[in-house]
Amino acid sequence: MNVTPKTHPPSPEFAANSHADRPRYDEMYRRSIDDPEGFWGEAGRELDWIRPYTKVSESRFDQGDVSIEWFGDGTLNVAANCVDRHLADRADQTAILWEPDDPSEEALHITYRELHGRVCRFANVLKRLGVERGDRVVIYLPMIPEAAVAMLACARIGAIHSIVFAGFSADALGARINGCDAKVVITADGAPRGGRVTNLKDNVNKALLHDTDDVKCLIVRRTGQQIAFRPQSDYWLHEEEAQVSDDCPPEEMSAEDPLFILYTSGSTGQPKGVVHTTGGYLLYAAMTHRYVFDHHDGDIFWCTADVGWVTGHSYIVYGPLANGATTVMFEGVPTYPDAGRFWAVCDKHQVTQFYTAPTALRALMGQGDSFVEPYDLSSIRVLGTVGEPINPEAWNWYDRQIGKGRCPIVDTWWQTETGGHLLTPLPGAIPTKPGSATLPFFGIRPVVLEPESGKRIDTTEAEGVLCIEASWPGQMRTVWGDHKRFMDTYFQQYPGYYFTGDGCRRDEDGYYWITGRVDDVINVSGHRMGTAEVESALVAHEKVAEAAVVGFPHDVKGQGIYAYVTLMNDVEPTEDLRRELERWVRSEIGPIAKPDLIQWAPGLPKTRSGKIMRRILRKIAENDPDSLGDTSTLADPSVVDDLVENRMNRG
Ligand code: ATP
Ligand code: MG
Repeated sequence: MNVTPKTHPPSPEFAANSHADRPRYDEMYRRSIDDPEGFWGEAGRELDWIRPYTKVSESRFDQGDVSIEWFGDGTLNVAANCVDRHLADRADQTAILWEPDDPSEEALHITYRELHGRVCRFANVLKRLGVERGDRVVIYLPMIPEAAVAMLACARIGAIHSIVFAGFSADALGARINGCDAKVVITADGAPRGGRVTNLKDNVNKALLHDTDDVKCLIVRRTGQQIAFRPQSDYWLHEEEAQVSDDCPPEEMSAEDPLFILYTSGSTGQPKGVVHTTGGYLLYAAMTHRYVFDHHDGDIFWCTADVGWVTGHSYIVYGPLANGATTVMFEGVPTYPDAGRFWAVCDKHQVTQFYTAPTALRALMGQGDSFVEPYDLSSIRVLGTVGEPINPEAWNWYDRQIGKGRCPIVDTWWQTETGGHLLTPLPGAIPTKPGSATLPFFGIRPVVLEPESGKRIDTTEAEGVLCIEASWPGQMRTVWGDHKRFMDTYFQQYPGYYFTGDGCRRDEDGYYWITGRVDDVINVSGHRMGTAEVESALVAHEKVAEAAVVGFPHDVKGQGIYAYVTLMNDVEPTEDLRRELERWVRSEIGPIAKPDLIQWAPGLPKTRSGKIMRRILRKIAENDPDSLGDTSTLADPSVVDDLVENRMNRG
């Protein structure tokens, strides 16, 4: 859109009390680019090293010669950094504040001292089951404290965890257990979510049905329900814990040893097993958590993601705990018992930073403000979003209804691959614009390339493919078991750069606007357009709840615009409304952006993390519903059938 949107500067008081105001951000950013060795060499000292590093970075991407190494000769233990080193100062402070699915069940406050005991005991249980340094452990748990304890227990003994979101099916779980050749799977009897209980153990049994290796299963008792226990290979956590001590010295790990494997959401294709290592990842998670959320002692930090996503890894567990924060873990869903649950929890626990996804905000916004009004949200200082471009409509609602116009909103752009935020405002430094992830974090060198030629565009205003020019400590190191795929996916198309797969626009202030996946850019009569812009315009219409836009082959224009539109609860889909929406987009963006086809969509295909899977919508729009590809990470596969059935393009 060509109107310059309103900017929202931080208040002078906020800036003055934050870790970085504008001059400080500018100075630190400049140093991080001019002298990365010096900058990261100093920053790295905030971690507790067993053997301090003497080398900072041995990383390069140029000329196809890709090597990524940070603090390579240093040794440390991630669990000791997240727990043990806080015992001196904050043993009695709450480390994990757990809010159960059912609001009438009591919340748990787990102190750093308790967390230490639980992690050590859990680590000894893993050892008792035969887990050794370098072995893989799959974690298939609901959002209960044991999920964080299990991650830290793996880190303590040098085992590599791979979390599989508890909403995934037995098949998806089985593929991931085999993919990393796990020795142990950790699960729970049942998972309460939104008032309903999933029998997780059943899924594990199904996943392991055809397994010839002897994968052990460690079970957390959460609900006490009946389960199909397999005596030869199943173990109850509480029984095992009774057999071990809570003394477990941390393993000395190299900074470059793998910490975890995590599969991407699968929005664009087959999920990739992203590998992160210990030293650089932890430093980057901790530093971004501190600066981006302006973390201070005494804060109650709440990231609503699931630990099954990278957001949960970096901003529920590793970043906050490395900083000695109190981190909230929420077992439930935003709409149970009603659409006010997020705000009820913010009020109840006096949350100071709240971090969620645009998809959740849009859903809650659609339910109306009466769910927000009863709650006191004055404890909140910073709001954040992640996962997708946030449309200005949802941004403004977040700002007004939740932040009451006084909380900076940090729109954080990053990926499973990046370990932590790459483009984001620092809340005390950067005036925000709704829908822009603004500027790079320290050490990040974004570049915009021409998509076809790969030529770098050096003018301030630019539009093209987003790449990163130099390594940062939180960067992934490989795709598990498939280094070639790592090279092909991220370094082949634009040699010399890390290719993010996302398109972006850089505006006159140097701010970055993510326009969507590069695959999602449509070319209408020679005009390149990000699908996000058209979606944003549609969602800005009062009758539209959600929209997804893709291109489809068009005889005249090359590509036409195909829009899937979900209407607000009680709006009737009519031909008049269809024409009204066409006119609306024309007037919001321009005639070129007018959708050629609008299909009413009762639901959109989304990944379990709430992202719209446009590759599926593209196939339907292309009238090619037989090649939808991998749909195993879809939240609700049945919505696809309806869309296929009612597709508009049968030509
Ligand atoms: P796959 O790589 O398997 O297709 P995925 O890209 O959805 O799945 P994630 O790593 O979970 O897997 O998501 C990262 C992507 O999410 C980014 O590349 C970007 O497209 C989108 N994204 C994340 N945060 C933002 C944001 N603040 N603004 C715009 N887009 C975002
Ligand atoms: Mg991706």
